[in-house]
Amino acid sequence: MNTYPQIILKPGKESPVLRFHPWIFSGAIQKTIGKPAEGDIVECYSSDGKYLATGHCMPGSLAVKLFAFGQQEINKKFWFSKLKQAWQVRKAIGLTDSTQTTAYRLVHNEGDSLPGLIVDIYGSLAVIQAHTTGMHDIRMLLAEGIVTVSEGKITSVYDKSAEAMSKMTQRIVTNSFLIGDAEECEVLENGHRFRINAVTGQKTGFFLDQRENRELLAKHSNGKNVLNMFGYTGGFSVYAAAAGAKIVHTVDSSAPAIALAEENMKLNGYKAAKYACFVADARKYMETMESGKYDLIVLDPPAYAKNVASRNQALKGYRTINALALSKIKSGGILFTFSCSQVVERQTFTSAVTAAAVDAGRQVRIIRHLSQPPDHPVNLFHQEGEYLKGLVLLVD
Ligand code: SAH
Repeated sequence: MNTYPQIILKPGKESPVLRFHPWIFSGAIQKTIGKPAEGDIVECYSSDGKYLATGHCMPGSLAVKLFAFGQQEINKKFWFSKLKQAWQVRKAIGLTDSTQTTAYRLVHNEGDSLPGLIVDIYGSLAVIQAHTTGMHDIRMLLAEGIVTVSEGKITSVYDKSAEAMSKMTQRIVTNSFLIGDAEECEVLENGHRFRINAVTGQKTGFFLDQRENRELLAKHSNGKNVLNMFGYTGGFSVYAAAAGAKIVHTVDSSAPAIALAEENMKLNGYKAAKYACFVADARKYMETMESGKYDLIVLDPPAYAKNVASRNQALKGYRTINALALSKIKSGGILFTFSCSQVVERQTFTSAVTAAAVDAGRQVRIIRHLSQPPDHPVNLFHQEGEYLKGLVLLVD
């Protein structure tokens, strides 16, 4: 068996690890035996020498991200079995064999006990996003593992870690195909068609986390004038049009996203002017739009808070856009409003929306609390993993 560098914790600091919390902070460490570099595998021990867990060494105050709580050799067999477990979870919830939904998340970070790794599936293409040096270093092995566990379904793997790696680590890496070369593809989500470009698209190409919320929007869309604000490539818009919305307007500040939104609307048969897509800034668009024009609005902004330091600024941002939507929405209208900032907790987001309702001077009722779908599982011991929060609001 390989021997790994050892991290010895201070007395009493083992209890979060014994509860399977997947992170170790540098303040909990008494000493390190060996000289682990960023990305190396390390084993963690209690101060009295008991093995606790194994993980990847990190450079900053978050010193280790843990992926195993039983002592074992970390080899190809180990990683393949982790990927197999993730595959089985998606199989059990009907995603791997679905003929109606061919895009889903296969690996969700701590939610799949693979901290630092995201894998999204688009038909026969898997897109890997590593957030740690440890995961990025083994990307080729992971790519082979994904193909191996996929029952012949995955034939291409693209590594799209560059953006995440430059934000989360000091490493500059380039994106590339690890296996195959299926750059563009068309997927189905609940029977709706979407074109995905993994290479040029934002994140891994599509926002898979809104799948179930899009279905819910469809239930409210018949006969409605819908504004899909921060619409990206038109996910919510296609569902609303399919459900019989009178008007569906998609707005996003990204011209390539809007071009793809238009394409996706057409691909599903929605070509008329009532399905128009606009390149515009959210705030400017809502400031100048006519009051009462829309009776169903989706607000799904990018993560306003990237870290704790930017949380207050983010809350102001949420308040501003929600106040605009709430003040302009038709009486009796419904607002789907979201935050995907990990550091903004659900209650804090609800408070920002409450402040917005006060600003708008509207009576508002919550009819649903929304989150992310089951292919984005949340580790109970790392609840920050529940990053997507949403409210469905009835505006009197
Ligand atoms: N609702 C989308 C995902 C939205 S992601 C879906 O279901 O697929 C957030 C989007 O906000 C991105 O497409 C980004 O281009 C857009 N965006 C960022 N800043 C913006 C702004 N100031 N005004 C309008 N759109 C913006």
